[in-house]
Amino acid sequence: MMPVSFSAWGEPTRYVNRAGRMTMRFFPYELQLRHAFNLARYQRTTTPDVQVEIEYEGVTGYGEASMPPYLGETVDSVVAFLSRLDLSRFSSPFAMEEIHEYMDSLSSGDRAAKAAVDIALHDLSGKLMGQPWHKIWGLDKEKCPCTSFTIGIDTEEVVRQKVDEASPYRVLKVKMGLDNDRETVEIIRSMTDVPICVDVNQGWTDRNQALEMCHWLAERNCLFVEQPMAVDRHDDTAWLRERSPLPLIADEALQRISDVRHIAEAYDGINIKLMKSTGMHEAYKMAVLARALDLKVMLGCMTETSCAVSAAAQLSPLADYADLDGNLLISNDRFSGMKIVDGKITLSDMPGIGVTPLQG
Ligand code: MG
Repeated sequence: MMPVSFSAWGEPTRYVNRAGRMTMRFFPYELQLRHAFNLARYQRTTTPDVQVEIEYEGVTGYGEASMPPYLGETVDSVVAFLSRLDLSRFSSPFAMEEIHEYMDSLSSGDRAAKAAVDIALHDLSGKLMGQPWHKIWGLDKEKCPCTSFTIGIDTEEVVRQKVDEASPYRVLKVKMGLDNDRETVEIIRSMTDVPICVDVNQGWTDRNQALEMCHWLAERNCLFVEQPMAVDRHDDTAWLRERSPLPLIADEALQRISDVRHIAEAYDGINIKLMKSTGMHEAYKMAVLARALDLKVMLGCMTETSCAVSAAAQLSPLADYADLDGNLLISNDRFSGMKIVDGKITLSDMPGIGVTPLQG
């Protein structure tokens, strides 16, 4: 039995899992979105999230699991997974590969829950080494890409307001997949010439129309198209890739490193997100594999606090494109961390994942 204790001193409930020399604390934390998030398939105003801390020899590492509903994880499933973990099997937080093998032996899913543990372990082990992860990986932080800022599917008034808000950014990400796709792009183009990228979230259903849209977008300074068609339309996507003037990036079609080879048949690149990849350990391997297969690397995120966003940013010198604006979309961040300076991801030399908690 896991030594999990439940203590409620007001909301939210806090959980403590003491295991050998590592102590894990976690609690649910609902992320409040600044704007209702409209995608091709639904709308929402909050995102469920679980915050995790792992303590070892007086040092604390921070992690988190963000669970947008379509990924299938919930606060309950994450709390249940974290409560089952027995970290007393491991003598230190440096046993990253073994801890991942152990977590995968417990379940094949629970990817966000595993990411929360992984991020906290990276933060902790980086702090114990006194180095940030981009340095441990040997990456040059000057090579961090610009991040895009997301414009959701919305009314003309809100789109205009968001484009104004996005003025510090050098790339705009446009959500698509509804009837007014062209309208949204026309509004943006009437306001700014900055490059756009497009995320269709599986919304295009006809491959000929998809191809027509790719050509139309290519004439409007678009960099790439993300997840143009449904995940199960692999062959149609390969057909589109053959003909499209714009690179196609897989997002929903890929989760972990085992998916990358299959994806390479139909897409030009992959969108790596820590909540899909089970964290930084596998995300790094995915970026390296993608490069070896001549795929573009994009680094994305869910709506998250600066904790998980800063963790992903440590990898960003390996990425061609970054969409790390999740922390900017919420009004109740718990950390300060990675900064966007003149549209570019900017990392500090703080150890671990480079975050400082904003509150107790
Ligand atoms: Mg996407």
